[in-house]
Order: sequence, then C-alpha cells, then structure tokens
Amino acid sequence: MSVREHVDVVVVGAGSTGSAAAAFLAEQGRSVMVVDRRGRARAGARWVNGVPLWCFDRAGIARPVEPERFSGGHDFLVGVHESDVRIRVRGVEGVDLDMRALTARLAGRAERAGARFLEGTVTAVTLATGRVTELSIETPSGRLGLAPRLVVDASGLSGAVRRRVPGFAELCPTPTEEDLCAAAQHQYRIADETAFRAFLRDHDATPGDSVGWLGVAGGYSTLTLFTEPTCREVGVLTGSIRALGHPSGAQILRRFVEAQPWIGEHLYGGQGAIPIRRPFVRLAGFGVALVGDAGCQVYAAHGSGVGMGLVASRILSDSVSRSQDPGHPRALRRYERRFHRRHGGVLAGSDAFRRFSQALERDDIEALLRSGLLDAELFAMGLSQKPARVRPAWLLAQIGRAVREPARARQVAPAVLRVLALQTLLRRVAPPRSLPAARLFDRLLSHLTGGQDRPPQVREIVAPPGEHVQSAQAAR
Ligand SMILES: Cc1cc2nc3c(=O)[nH]c(=O)nc-3n(C[C@H](O)[C@H](O)[C@H](O)COP(=O)(O)OP(=O)(O)OC[C@H]3O[C@@H](n4cnc5c(N)ncnc54)[C@H](O)[C@@H]3O)c2cc1C
Repeated sequence: MSVREHVDVVVVGAGSTGSAAAAFLAEQGRSVMVVDRRGRARAGARWVNGVPLWCFDRAGIARPVEPERFSGGHDFLVGVHESDVRIRVRGVEGVDLDMRALTARLAGRAERAGARFLEGTVTAVTLATGRVTELSIETPSGRLGLAPRLVVDASGLSGAVRRRVPGFAELCPTPTEEDLCAAAQHQYRIADETAFRAFLRDHDATPGDSVGWLGVAGGYSTLTLFTEPTCREVGVLTGSIRALGHPSGAQILRRFVEAQPWIGEHLYGGQGAIPIRRPFVRLAGFGVALVGDAGCQVYAAHGSGVGMGLVASRILSDSVSRSQDPGHPRALRRYERRFHRRHGGVLAGSDAFRRFSQALERDDIEALLRSGLLDAELFAMGLSQKPARVRPAWLLAQIGRAVREPARARQVAPAVLRVLALQTLLRRVAPPRSLPAARLFDRLLSHLTGGQDRPPQVREIVAPPGEHVQSAQAAR
C-alpha cells in the first residue's frame, strides 16, 4: 500500500542544481524532500566541470577549494584542429572542479538545514485545480506518495516532472537531438610527465592552463584539456552535436586518448547529453519550478549548465522566500521573470551563437580566428557567461578588422546582432503570462536565435559498459 506524506517542497534530482535548491529552501525553514533515482551518493554529474566563479558568489555558495577544485585562474588557449592558429584568453575567472565533491558539499549543506534525501524515481504526477498535488515515487522499498506545495524539477535533461504536466508541453518541449551536445569528460593520471610537458610546450601552454581545440568534428565540436601545475593528473573534455552526423564526444575523446602516450590510468569521468537550446520561456507554473538542465538553463555556446543551475536555484529560493505557499503562482511568476530578465538574454544569445558556430567549417573557424574577428575578448565574454560588455576601444579594433576582412565580417555580423538583440530584449521584456502571448514571444525568440524548435526525435547515445550515461533515451 502506498504511503502519503505532506511536505513544503519536493526537489526531484539531487545533482548540483537540485542539491543547491534543497539547501536554500531548507535554510528558509521549509520541510524539503529530495528524490533522486540514483540516490544521494551517485546523483548529478560525476566528472570535472568548468564554472565561472561569480556564479558561486551570486548563489551564496563558498568558492571551491582543493581537493574539490582541480584547477583554476589559468589562461585558456583556444586553437583550431590541425592548425597553428591560437588565441590566449588570460586569467579566466573560473574554476575546474570535481562535480562529485561539489554535489556532495551542497547535499551536506541541505541535510544540515533539515532536508531529507530519498532514493526513488518519479513515476507519476497528480494535478488538481491546475497544480501538481502529488508525486508518485517508486523507491527500493515500495511506492510512496509525496504531497508538496512546491515541486522543484531539477531532474536534468529528463524533465521528470515537466514532461508529465500537460500545461508545460507546448512551451517546454523535450529538446530534440539537434539541440543536444554529446559530451564526455574523463580524468587520467599522467604516465609520462616529460612527454606531457613537451606536449604543452608545443601548444604554447604551461601546466595549469586549459588548452582547447575547436572544430575537431564539425563547427560545434571541441576538445579541451584541463591541466594543473603539478602535472599529476589531466582532464579531457569533448563535445559535439551527433545529429549533424559528427562522432560523439565519447568517440572524439577515445581517439585522442589512444593517440597520446603520456596519458595513463583512468581515474573517473563520464558522459552524457547536454541541452543546448535557450531556456524555456515557461520556467514555472502548476506548482512546479524548472531549474538547471530541466529548464535548459545552459550556456549553449559551450554547453555549460552548472553555474546557471546554481544561480537559478538561488533566484527561485529568493523569489518564494516571502510567500507562505512556496508554490503560489505569484511567487513562481517572480522566479520566471527574474531569471529571464537577469540571465535569459545571455543564455538565448549563446544559443544564437551556438547555431552560428555549428554551421562553420574548420577553415571558417581558422579564418575567423586569424582575422581577429573572433578574438580573446569575445572568448572571455563567452567563458564568463555574463552579458556582452562592448569596450569602445575593442569596438574600434573590430571595425578595423571588419574593413580588412569584409566577407568574414558579413559572416559573423548576423550572429553578433542576434546575441545583442536577445540580450537587450530579454533584459527589458519578461515572457508574457497568457499562453497566446507567451506562444508569440516564444516564436519571436526562436526567430531571433535563428532556430526552429522541432518535435522530439530521440536516438540513443552509446556509452562504454559501466559508465554513467545521461542520454535523451535514458531520460524517457
Ligand atoms: C561530459 C560533460 C561535461 C560537461 N562539462 C561542463 C562544464 O565544463 N561546465 C558546465 O557548467 N557544465 C558542463 N556540463 C553540463 C553540466 O554537467 C550540467 O549542466 C549539470 O550537471 C546539470 O545539473 P542538474 O543538477 O541540473 O542536472 P543533473 O546533473 O543531470 O542531475 C539530475 C538528477 O536528476 C535525477 N533524475 C532524473 N530523472 C529522475 C526521476 N524520474 N526521478 C528521480 N530522479 C531523477 C538524476 O539521477 C540526476 O542525479 C557537462 C556535461 C557533460 C555531460
């Protein structure tokens, strides 16, 4: 027989976003239950991710320190596959961190504030008078019914609650394969330090720098090395859009690792699919708030969702803090509006840039880097995940480069204009409340990002046995 329990908040998903949301809401004195199908100890990303430092500050989370912090405060060298062109982005204000440790830290903070964790899978939702009133959870010891006032869907790409609420269907479609980045990240011991240091020297890098190559398999595809000063360990991060016919991140990574004799024992890592479309116009409603990958709050240009997930969790908890009912429509509306106005434009703009970049050939990327039209300042803006700040001196330099390379300037200008238009629009106008108006707004955003939102079409992303997989298929 199923048991029914009343709580203020149920958070579905105990990854970094869900654990942060649980901590913030429990710290308000709310009763919080966190449900994850993999359990607290195995939830969320299990690899090294790069995250801008300001996201921790904005979310009210202490910045990572060793051993959680793998490396940081380094230069980022951006190159092009099979080319000597290279750009140095100096002093990136970010950190590469072990997500297992961050997620455990946030879950510990949530538990200390009174949140409880439960291993279980959401199998059904019950709606009454336009709100989710009950979640059915399948646990290892039987079925459980949870009756919350607010449901936080932090279940990542699976959107475990979102896809079960008919009212979300139209404005929050499950991302299609065209909007998924197949990524992989693994950590390895360095087997031959001398050869590794020589490899870095050949690429103008010193231990501690990150070194990335663009266009390793089509326009939107990368391979990045995370290094640290002692040269004991190295991280390899890859990503691509398989729907475009390119090899997956896991395949790109395997080929690279096999070709490098200095890479030694495998330590940990994983792979999965990242939603790389703009955030959903509807981020809350029906007693449910979408945060993190579940709301597509991802910087699409490089498939980064950790920082925005933390920030979204903070905006959500601040937005409901003064409401006795945390799932009240007005409180949820506040969350949606605040997120979109502060960060929606930057994320939508990054989606526009991602769509531009995926259409480029390797030679185009090389030419754009050589021309200076894609320069260190643009990459720094992208890595920071902040709104574009256009310095007059930089703008003048860009105009000079555009005059020298008019064909390349014509190629890149529409993408830059889309980014600026989306940032300006969403800073000033929040998504409307009524469905017909929100639908029109969504179409306008779709048009400005340069993409068509198509119906779901899912293909499995294959992983080597025993590895953690998050795929659109697994999400079903
Ligand atoms: C290989 C790789 C490298 C990446 N690199 C970076 C990077 O460098 N920087 C960066 O910012 N981002 C990076 N990302 C993206 C980043 O990992 C995600 O954006 C982030 O982990 C999303 O966190 P989340 O908590 O929203 O979702 P998730 O981490 O996906 O957590 C969702 C949780 O929900 C649980 N769940 C799902 N369905 C159910 C259900 N029905 N019932 C109960 N529980 C459920 C899952 O078990 C999971 O634990 C990378 C992603 C990959 C795959």
